[in-house]
Amino acid sequence: MPATSKTRPCAIVWFRDDLRITDNPALDASVRRGLPVVALYVLDEESAGIRALGGATRWWLHHSLTRLWESLTAIGIPLVLRRGAAENVLTDLVASTGASLVTWNRRYGGPEIAVDTRVKSALTLGGVTVESFAANLLYEPWTLKPASAPYYRVFTPFWKAALAAGTPRRLLPAPGALTAPASPAPQSPPPGDRLDDWTLLPRSPDWSGGLAATWVPGEDGARARLDRFLDTGLSDYARLRDRPDKDATTMLSPHLRFGEISPNQIWHAVRSRDDGQGADKLLAEIGWREFSWHLLFHNPDLATRNLDARFDRFPWRDDPRGLRAWQRGRTGYAIVDAGMRQLWATGWMHNRVRMIAASFLIKDLMIDWRAGEAWFWDTLVDADMANNPASWQWVAGCGADPAPFFRVFNPALQAEKFDPDGAYVRQWLPERTGGPPPARIVDHAAARRRALEAFKTLKE
Ligand SMILES: Cc1cc2nc3c(=O)[nH]c(=O)nc-3n(C[C@H](O)[C@H](O)[C@H](O)COP(=O)(O)OP(=O)(O)OC[C@H]3O[C@@H](n4cnc5c(N)ncnc54)[C@H](O)[C@@H]3O)c2cc1C
Repeated sequence: MPATSKTRPCAIVWFRDDLRITDNPALDASVRRGLPVVALYVLDEESAGIRALGGATRWWLHHSLTRLWESLTAIGIPLVLRRGAAENVLTDLVASTGASLVTWNRRYGGPEIAVDTRVKSALTLGGVTVESFAANLLYEPWTLKPASAPYYRVFTPFWKAALAAGTPRRLLPAPGALTAPASPAPQSPPPGDRLDDWTLLPRSPDWSGGLAATWVPGEDGARARLDRFLDTGLSDYARLRDRPDKDATTMLSPHLRFGEISPNQIWHAVRSRDDGQGADKLLAEIGWREFSWHLLFHNPDLATRNLDARFDRFPWRDDPRGLRAWQRGRTGYAIVDAGMRQLWATGWMHNRVRMIAASFLIKDLMIDWRAGEAWFWDTLVDADMANNPASWQWVAGCGADPAPFFRVFNPALQAEKFDPDGAYVRQWLPERTGGPPPARIVDHAAARRRALEAFKTLKE
């Protein structure tokens, strides 16, 4: 839509899961154009198929948007918040501002791609230029392709192909650091919603105290975590990353989830420090994130459909009491319960314990992995559309390149191996030191036999 006599042309940057001003290609492109820039965030709970945020990610989003607003204000760009179907919000805002350019960073979920495609054609039809960019993955899902299949189903060749594809793109500075002055904002910023009116924060009860004590959402918090890890954790990462009793991983997952830091920034920061085992291992974990998104792009229903269709016949048990005991950390298995308490208190759980807790739900309780995925979706601050279902399917044995179903974790042995002094369990289950352990809701050996019997039916 061309600018009217009352408006000057401007550019709109539509922020989504990329809540940062550094290394943000969509923001960089708009600012470089020299037009006044308006930033937009849309809380879209209306467009078909978009998965509603869980409680923990709503808390994170509130704080992340506050930080983004501060960073953008400092470089003279207003952040407009609007709630509604993205297509309507974008067309309204373009009409009222006379924007001639809209930029965004690409998304890879099925419903999100459908929304972006619709918005793009509506705006283009009205004469607006729309530009989209690669920003939140090192390799967009369609850029890595095996010779003889539509997409990679196995991690190792996927990551080999990624590494062979060369160094990821160069880093982009934050606009304030450009030599040209940051683009002036329009005289009066378009009206938007008040963040508080979105009621993203929990009220009654307010369960977010443990989250606030653990995290600093936003770009600065992400950068501080990365820098601290590079100084203190990288060299030991390969050796200690499986130890939940140590502070040995980056804890960058929620920051990556909201795009407060890009994998590209991590890549260059890690490579500039170290070429050793720790660096390779960390980048391979970033590679698992890339692989999950590759899988989601090629399987938009990853959170609901078993990739291995044989599992459609699996005799999952309907066990609401077991599910509740697992959710509340009352299974009687200390490492599982400690993990579930860590999750409830902080919105995060160590990767090794996620695997143990997920295995317990799926195999010891024989509860459908989708029930566990949904609980994690609601309670994790890093709840991720790709990583969460891909990891659950991996543990269940029905995913791409999964752990085999018949490999059933023994929670007691896992605890001995990865929490040898019991420090992790003591931290999250202080009440269990001394007193008798609570009754176990299942006997692991019997539960294992039951699961393996059920698994046999898939082969018949
Ligand atoms: C059942 C289950 C559910 C999970 N759900 C999520 C989720 O919703 N969101 C999420 O980000 N991760 C999920 N993971 C993967 C992993 O547990 C977390 O990414 C990791 O624990 C985050 O901690 P960190 O940032 O300290 O990881 P680090 O070890 O420091 O790794 C750095 C980054 O690499 C990525 N990464 C690490 N491990 C994995 C992995 N196994 N798969 C994919 N990416 C990985 C993450 O982005 C992580 O932030 C899940 C794993 C399991 C077993």
